[in-house]
Amino acid sequence: MSTTCFCDSGKKWFCYPCEQLICESCKIRHENHAMEESGSLQQKLSSRLPSAIKLCVQAIPNLQDQIDQVDTSVEEMERRVNALKDQLKSRFEVLQAKLMVHHENLRQEADNFLTNIKDKSNQKKELLQTKVSTIESIRDRCHNDDGMDIMDSLKLDDLCTRILDDVKNQSSIIHKIPVICFSVKDNDFEKEIGELFGVLRLDVEERQYKPNKSPLTKSSEGLVGPKLAFPALPVRTGQKVSAIVQTSSNDIIIGYSTNKVITFYDRNAKKQKSRELPIYVQSMTSTSSGAVLVSENKGSKVMKIESKRIELFFDASPFKAFGVLCSKLERVVYVCCQSDEHGHIYVITYEGKLTKIIKKSAEGEFLFQKPHRIAEHSSCRILYVTDPGQKMLLAINNHRQCLFRYNGGPERSNFIPIDVSFCPSINCTVVTNWKGNSVHQLSEDGSFMSLVVSQRDNLLYPTTLLFDCLKRIWISHKDKVTVLKCNFTTS
Ligand SMILES: [Zn+2]
Ligand SMILES: [Zn+2]
Repeated sequence: MSTTCFCDSGKKWFCYPCEQLICESCKIRHENHAMEESGSLQQKLSSRLPSAIKLCVQAIPNLQDQIDQVDTSVEEMERRVNALKDQLKSRFEVLQAKLMVHHENLRQEADNFLTNIKDKSNQKKELLQTKVSTIESIRDRCHNDDGMDIMDSLKLDDLCTRILDDVKNQSSIIHKIPVICFSVKDNDFEKEIGELFGVLRLDVEERQYKPNKSPLTKSSEGLVGPKLAFPALPVRTGQKVSAIVQTSSNDIIIGYSTNKVITFYDRNAKKQKSRELPIYVQSMTSTSSGAVLVSENKGSKVMKIESKRIELFFDASPFKAFGVLCSKLERVVYVCCQSDEHGHIYVITYEGKLTKIIKKSAEGEFLFQKPHRIAEHSSCRILYVTDPGQKMLLAINNHRQCLFRYNGGPERSNFIPIDVSFCPSINCTVVTNWKGNSVHQLSEDGSFMSLVVSQRDNLLYPTTLLFDCLKRIWISHKDKVTVLKCNFTTS
């Protein structure tokens, strides 16, 4: 049934979620939608617009200032980069000079070594030459002089023996030729040049240039060394935990996608009671008034459970309902909806009237494929939505602008995000990675910080998670629910 009104006249109503004018007879097809009479809306707008436009015009100088700031910051950066280049050049010149001196020293050493060797060799040659001359003179005397007396003969004999001994020893003393080499390898160069010349690091802190300081300034802290708060809660074989929620009275409720029942636990994980439901559970959210909203697994209904009553809160048909979130800030309920085409998020008033549809970004692009679970930042108007279809976690502000898309960081190739939660005490977002058997902690700008839990902690196929009021994380995974106490590092 189309909700578009093709009638020519009598369009007396404006439908907010459909963003169109409709006539009295088409009104019936928008019964769950937030609507307003077009005449009074027009009147409101015409009284509101002039002042709104005036405010916008007044913002022009501010924008102009920002344009100037952009120019000056680029100029400043250019100045700094040029200064850096000068520094690099002088560093290079210093290193070049030092290297030249070093080179000269090495050459000088090599020359000295050679001169030294030559001197010693000449001395040795002279010594040997003297010996040769002595032997020759002995030989000559023997040939020419017959009347050598016995004493002379003995002296000569003694001399000959000494010379022969000497020659025998001398020949073994002659130095071997040394291996001459210069021992620097090419990869040493790379290492050492880095040390000598330095490494370039160009940091651009984007946030610094944002004109308005949003509450997004507190630095994120890390979760470290999670410990079991108490033994894991067993889950009966065949039952799949699909939602864990804490009520305003601090009870923990666990819901199942395979069983039409919810179970209540106290804060220490002691089972209190069970309650039957008319539907299987896909997702749950708690309201500040103590009620719990439950979306239907493989269905379109969102039920409201109060102390005694269970009633229909909203029907998203023909779409399937997934993650539900009761916003503490906006006094609305978000419902992730999936169909064969692009998914969307319904924004519903506390009274159960559809008031907005989040489907496309401000730039007109489809935001979601399979929006699954949703969380909100505690102080800013930011929604975090997991989309296993796109294998992404998206962060969207209240102007439907996508702030970041997180693709799994180090587990990019292995990332199927299921549930997401925002932890106000450390200002960070955590997301379960079903495929990677892990829980990721992200900083506010959507960059990976750490694995809070991983396969090494025996986590298998994590699905839903809850941050409770005692800063513990409840994580459902294969056949159990693990509750971890987390320590926080303060950076
Ligand atoms: Zn019509
Ligand atoms: Zn409508």
